[in-house]
Amino acid sequence: HAKEGGRNTYQFFRKEMRGRNTKLQDKEEQLLEALARQQFVLFYQAQINLESGAITGVEALIRWRHPERGLLLPESFIQDAEDCGAIVAIGRWVLLEACNQAQAWLDEGLIFNMMAVNVSAHQFANNDFLENVQSVLQQSGWTPNRLELELNESVLLKNIASATITLHALRSIGVKIAIDDFGTGCSSMIYLKQLAVDTMKIDRSFVHDISSSEDDILVRAIIGIGKGFRHRIIAEGVETAEQLAILRDIDCSTAQGYYLNRPMIAEEFADFLKAGVAEHLLKRQGMPGDP
Ligand code: C2E
Ligand code: MG
Ligand code: MG
Ligand code: MG
Repeated sequence: HAKEGGRNTYQFFRKEMRGRNTKLQDKEEQLLEALARQQFVLFYQAQINLESGAITGVEALIRWRHPERGLLLPESFIQDAEDCGAIVAIGRWVLLEACNQAQAWLDEGLIFNMMAVNVSAHQFANNDFLENVQSVLQQSGWTPNRLELELNESVLLKNIASATITLHALRSIGVKIAIDDFGTGCSSMIYLKQLAVDTMKIDRSFVHDISSSEDDILVRAIIGIGKGFRHRIIAEGVETAEQLAILRDIDCSTAQGYYLNRPMIAEEFADFLKAGVAEHLLKRQGMPGDP
């Protein structure tokens, strides 16, 4: 009986595994087909200096224009892409597209400093990643020290030893590194100690409650740590004038969020860059330059 049970379990398991594998293979096929059909698109969101109102950086955020399901946010496909491995090809496209766009805006005379690109764990761990970054910089002409790779804890946690090597190699060619969603994982502090990073992005969950809870103590502390390390600090997810005012009050240098601008397609973002500080930002309550 036991033997038979074992075999049944085994066969069931085999079937499950096969089912799972074909599912992943389907996903991979769909994602790579979407890539080939140019269904992915980058949206852009500004990183804004809270003292001057200047746009210091731009974060590229992927979306999928799905022929049936409409515009899909990364939460509905990035994990799949990561699991099936399609993220390597997609991530390569993202890097090239973002750097090409950045260089095109620069050539048009639009002013901003940094292009920030999100990188996921599988992509970062891939052997060809460094080479890919270098070839993208070469192809696009974008300056290495104006490219910032945003890595979150799951990326760095995978293998801190090899992550450290890759990070140092990236920095040696001039590329900047940001820790994304800072404070959400329990080992954020270890990165600061061990890893070469330039920027800390304070997770939006802290910014969200900054006016109504003791989160301002945490944000103040994070900003203090960042200053100690001479890191650039970006607060994510600023949605209200009040949050913005508090962040400025506690000397947070840079912020991103719907209150400042929503992620938008390249053409719209170019208009936003052209209009610059005066049109869009200084008229907002709480920004410098207000009457
Ligand atoms: P993230 O890098 O932390 O990006 C910030 C997310 O917060 C973006 O969501 C952005 O649209 C959203 N956001 C910006 N301002 C506000 C705000 O004021 N309030 C709120 N509630 N949200 C705000 P999005 O575009 O859906 O991206 C989600 C995550 O997907 C990103 O988080 C990043 O981890 C990942 N992702 C996005 N693009 C890429 C990509 O090209 N490659 C990879 N590997 N991951 C990506
Ligand atoms: Mg990010
Ligand atoms: Mg984030
Ligand atoms: Mg996030």
